Amino acid sequence: MRNKASNSQSTKSRANAQMQAANSMLNPGDEAPRGTPGTGDDICPECHGKGRIGGAPCPKCGGSGTITRAIGGA
Ligand SMILES: [Zn+2]
Repeated sequence: MRNKASNSQSTKSRANAQMQAANSMLNPGDEAPRGTPGTGDDICPECHGKGRIGGAPCPKCGGSGTITRAIGGA
């Protein structure tokens, strides 16, 4: 029985630029990416669903008027 532990693969030089572009669609008010199980849309507490505050797009929901919120569970 051979027990060779010299697995010297150096894959650390791989650039992880792909991970940065993945979650760029989240708004500040979102608790999870859209479509995540256990989450649902909720009225934005900041603009109350209007999507705008004082004529400017709401920064919390990104102007959509809704946020993605974690529901159920603890
Ligand atoms: Zn809002």
